[in-house]
Amino acid sequence: MSTGKNSKLIIISSPSGAGKTTLCKLLIKKMNNINLSISFTSRSKRLNEINGKDYYFISKKEFESLKKKNFFIETAKNFNNLYGSPFRNISLSKKNNQHILFDIDWKGARKIRKNYNKNDIIDFFILPPSKSELKRRLIKRGRENKKEISLRLSYAIDEMNHYNEYKYVLINEKVQNTVNEIKKIIEYHQLITKQKKFLKSKLKKIINS
Ligand code: 5GP
Repeated sequence: MSTGKNSKLIIISSPSGAGKTTLCKLLIKKMNNINLSISFTSRSKRLNEINGKDYYFISKKEFESLKKKNFFIETAKNFNNLYGSPFRNISLSKKNNQHILFDIDWKGARKIRKNYNKNDIIDFFILPPSKSELKRRLIKRGRENKKEISLRLSYAIDEMNHYNEYKYVLINEKVQNTVNEIKKIIEYHQLITKQKKFLKSKLKKIINS
């Protein structure tokens, strides 16, 4: 499947605590041609989260029913919760000629790669500077209890083993630098797409003249 026009599917994956959510938020602020794909989840809402902004929080039953109706491009189970990206976000971004940003795990990234043209996808894997730093960040954000932190840490090790499935792997030492690198890579892809289009329109004229 192709996204059409100049819309790209931008995927950012990383283990929990590597700073991915902050990165995505900063990137959207810096680039006004990107929409965030807001996922649906059966996980409970955290105190600082807003329904419809961070996620659409629904019950497991509602999630299963939407899944049956082919509402999602992809779904995954993480930490015993269900997560899914709806198709409607892609259609809307395509219509507005915007890129769409997915803050999803490697399982979701694999499904998107399977269903969409590889030239339409720009995928990033974000690594923390070290495992101990990841643990420190998970504890610092104080969202999870001890049991959840150790669950997320063990998932993180598994998640990190998938970094080589991604086109771009970045180490998130300083968040501003990482955001700037992501922005430059997206701009490079935009330029290539523009250049290809330009060439396509000019080549025929040059050759046939
Ligand atoms: P959290 O509960 O910390 O918000 O997210 C847990 C994990 O689920 C993160 O790795 C996040 O990227 C991933 N995730 C969030 N939404 C989706 C989604 O729609 N699909 C998939 N495959 N993963 C998601």
